[in-house]
Parts: sequence; C-alpha cells; structure tokens
Amino acid sequence: MSENTKCSSDTSCGTCGTAASCDAAAKAKHMEVNLQNRLSKIRYRIAVMSGKGGVGKSTVAVNLAVALARSGRSVGLLDADVHGPNVPKMLGIDHMVPSMGVNGMSPVVASDNLKVISMAFLLEDPDTPVVWRGPMKHSLFQQFLSDVDWGSLDYLIVDLPPGTGDEPLSIAQLLGQPLWAVIVTTPQDVALLDSRKSVVFARTLEMKTLGIIENMSGLACPHCGGVIDLFKTGGGAKAALELGVPFLGAIPIDPQIVTGGDAGVTIESADPKGSSAEAFRGLARQVETEIWQG
Ligand code: ADP
Repeated sequence: MSENTKCSSDTSCGTCGTAASCDAAAKAKHMEVNLQNRLSKIRYRIAVMSGKGGVGKSTVAVNLAVALARSGRSVGLLDADVHGPNVPKMLGIDHMVPSMGVNGMSPVVASDNLKVISMAFLLEDPDTPVVWRGPMKHSLFQQFLSDVDWGSLDYLIVDLPPGTGDEPLSIAQLLGQPLWAVIVTTPQDVALLDSRKSVVFARTLEMKTLGIIENMSGLACPHCGGVIDLFKTGGGAKAALELGVPFLGAIPIDPQIVTGGDAGVTIESADPKGSSAEAFRGLARQVETEIWQG
C-alpha cells in the first residue's frame, strides 16, 4: 500500500496510514481485552513445570487437576505442551473435540468440574509432529487463553512445555501475575539439577513457587501397596530446602499410572485407595494450603 493510501477500515487509528496495520493493531487490542476478561474470571493460575521432559509433568498436572475437581473446585486444564500433548489421552478424552459456542471455543468437559483444552484436540493426525516456529506457538497460546470460553474457574492448571526456553516463557507472560508454579522433578541428580533451573526461571518471572514435587519416588509395590526405595528418594526435599521453596510431597513409581495413563484412566479412578492416588490428593491439599497462606 502506498504512503498516500489512507486507511479506510473502521478500525483506523488515523495515524498509521494502512488498513492492514490498523487491522492488526485492532486485532491485537481485541485479543488483549479478551485475554484480560477471561483471566479475570480465574481465581488461581498454576503452571506445572519441569526442567526436562519425561519426569511426569503431564501426569502431575492431570492428577492435580482431577484431585482438585473431585474436591469440588471448578478446574480448567490447559495442555500447553504442544509437542507432546498427552493430557487428553491420559484422561481418556482424546476422541472428543471442542465445540464453538457464542462466547468462543468451549473446552472439552472431562468430568464434573474439569474442563480441558489441548493441541491434541486440534490435530487431525496424532502422529503428525507440530513443526511451528515460535511466533505461531505464541499465537496459539494466546488463543488458548483468549478465545477459549473457560468461564469462571477456581483453578486453571497449565501443563507447560518442559524446560526454561521460549515456550514456557511465552505462556508464563501471557498468564500474567499472580502466577503460581509447581515444579516436578524425579529423584536423580540430573533431574534435580534441571529442576533447580525451573525454580530460578520461576523467580526470574516473578512467579510464586508453590514448591517442588518429587515424582517416581520409590516403587509402589503392586502386591502389598507399600513403597520400595528402588533408586533413591529425598532429592526433591533436599533441593526444596536448599532453594528455600516448599516441598510438596512425593509420588511413588506406580505401574498403574503407566497403564492407566495409556488407557485414559486416572489413578484416582483405577485405584482410589492406593498410595499414589492418596499422594496426588495430598499434593492438591498442599497446593491449596500454600496458596491460601501466601
Ligand atoms: P512429562 O510430561 O514430564 O514428559 P509424562 O507425564 O508424560 O512426563 O510421563 C512420562 C511417562 O512416565 C508416562 O508414561 C507416564 O505414565 C509415566 N509416569 C509418570 N509418573 C509416573 C509414576 N509416578 N509412576 C509410573 N509411571 C509414571
């Protein structure tokens, strides 16, 4: 468009001279207003983070959300792990699709009090990797928050992509303040080293760190239900102490978490009386206590 072409759009600000840039600015403004509107209806936003993949971040996010929902809280679960969106499969809702309502995209209702949005719902083929550059992912995260009709929630649990790079940064910034963080680690030294980076990342972004949870901590014996100290345990508690953040508890390695995760049955449904389900309920209680205290 030439310099002389004046913007004829209704959204013209009268200064930029191009309809395209006026339109883009208006869209950005509209999205920001929507985002703030949606966020204002959510009491607490909690990001579940880990220093690296494979430590059980999504498992913790799902089971924390389920435990909170079962205790009567109204919960949204945003699966923001675009490259490994496993949340719908873990909840057995991967065959479902969000619908369009008058107020935007309606999240999938997984159970009483639990609504879910994930990239997995939008992929035609689950085997196709998402090959997107940073700005496209940022725009997707923006839409997950501003175009999705979450309604009023007590908690929005966000399963962040692993690590401390662009993607978690982008989502954390969109979620704004106050934003709470749960950091998932496993007991091995390498995972603990990475979880320390997550604590520093959370501090840098002025997130409120609720604490560290140690996943795969000992083995839940399928016969007697007791916990066997398979590798080692206690690293999460030690790291929490050193870093001056609360320790939120330990979840044992439980074969039923793997089979249930693959079959779309949470441990709360598969074995509600077992030590793992109790550990997730304990995590939910601890999270609420930390939030109310701080
Ligand atoms: P991440 O989100 O960190 O990449 P996931 O939550 O996808 O990790 O978990 C990776 C795998 O480990 C999954 O197969 C999951 O079922 C399994 N897993 C997670 N936590 C446990 C646990 N406490 N006991 C047994 N298996 C677990």
